[in-house]
Amino acid sequence: MTRRRIAILGSTGSIGQNTLKVVRHCRPAFEVKALTAYNNIALLEKDIREFRPEIVAVAKAHLPALRSRWKTVRFMDVDEDLDALVGRRDVDIVVLAMTGSAALGPFLAAVRAGKTVAPANKEALVMAGEIIMEEARRCGSRIIPVDSEQSAIFQCLEGQRREDLKRVILTASGGPLKDIPVKKHHTISVEDVLKHPRWCMGAKITVDSATLMNKGFEVIEAQRLFGLSVHEVDVVVHPQAIIHSMVEFCDGSVLAQMGVADMCVPIQYALTYPRRHKGARESLDLTTARICTFEKPDMVKFPSLKLAYMVAGKGGTLPAVLNAADEVAVEAFLKGQIKFTTMFKIVEKTVLAHRNGSAKNIKEILAADGWARIKAREALRKAA
Ligand code: MG
Repeated sequence: MTRRRIAILGSTGSIGQNTLKVVRHCRPAFEVKALTAYNNIALLEKDIREFRPEIVAVAKAHLPALRSRWKTVRFMDVDEDLDALVGRRDVDIVVLAMTGSAALGPFLAAVRAGKTVAPANKEALVMAGEIIMEEARRCGSRIIPVDSEQSAIFQCLEGQRREDLKRVILTASGGPLKDIPVKKHHTISVEDVLKHPRWCMGAKITVDSATLMNKGFEVIEAQRLFGLSVHEVDVVVHPQAIIHSMVEFCDGSVLAQMGVADMCVPIQYALTYPRRHKGARESLDLTTARICTFEKPDMVKFPSLKLAYMVAGKGGTLPAVLNAADEVAVEAFLKGQIKFTTMFKIVEKTVLAHRNGSAKNIKEILAADGWARIKAREALRKAA
C-alpha cells in the first residue's frame, strides 16, 4: 500500500485523537499531512511535535504565537481556509472528525476535489446528504463512514448487490438513561448524561445519545449513505454494543458486524479500505459477554427518535431544521440553561413550525438552518 496522506479536521477531539492512535499503530502506512483544531493548543502542539504535519489550521487568535514557535509549519485560519486545505493535491484522505454543521463546507469541498472522505461527523450528512452523495458520484469521491453503525452497514454490504438489500438494522446502546423512568427525566443533570456506558465520545454526541436523537440522526445518515427509504431503516436497542449494526437481504439472511466497542476499529477500516490492517485491540471474547439482548426502542420515553423518524420520512429541508434546533438545544442544556426534557420541547416546536421546502442546493439548506436557529433560540428564551 502506498503511503496515504491524511488531513484530520478536528484533530484534538475524541475521533481526531483516535485517528492519530490508528496512524501511530499502523506506522508507516499513513502520513499526517494536516491537522485542524480550534482552541486546544496544548494538545495540538503535542501532536505537531509527534506527527510533524506540514499544514495546521487553528482559530485566528492563535496564529501569531504558533507561527513564531513552529517555523516549518504552514498555518491557516480554521474558519476561512478549510475548503482550500482539503482540496490540496497532496491530501488523499480527509477525516471529518469535527462536530456540528461547520463540517458541511469542508465535506463538500473534499468531495468536489474527488478525495476519499471518512466522515465521523453526521450533521453534514443529515443536513445535505443528498447533495453530498450526488456530488460524490459526480466527482468520483469515495465516502467511507467512520460512525460505527454506518461502518458496520458499509462492511456488511461489501460484495453484495444493492437490489438484494431488504433493510438495515441500526443498533442503539440505549444511552445512560435507558433504565431511568420517564417521569424522572426532567431531573437529569449534565453530569448524569455525560456518563455514557459504552462509547467514549464528545459532549454533544453524548447528549444526543442520551435522548436517542443521535440514533434519529443515524437513521437519516443511513438513508443518505446507502440510498434508503425511511421504511428500510430500523432501530433496535442492544445495550451490550457487541453488534454494531446489521443488514437484512431479500432472502431473509441477516449479516451483522461485531467487535469491541472501540472507535479505532471503524476509523482504521476507513483509512485502510479496502484492505484491513492488524488491529491494536484484543479479540472480542463472546464468552465473557454471555448475554446479548435486543428490544424495541421506547418512543414514548425517547420522543426525539420518533420526531427524527417523522423528519426522515418527509426529507426536504426538515432534516437541516432538526439538526440546527438540536444544536441550539443541546448547547443550552450543556450550559445549564435548560432542563433535559426542555431540549426536546425546543426541537419539536421548531420542527413543527417549519414549512418544509425543497433542498436541492446548499443555499436552501443553509436558509432553513438559519431560520431554525432563530426559531429555536426564541423557544429557548421562553423556556429558560
Ligand atoms: Mg454512532
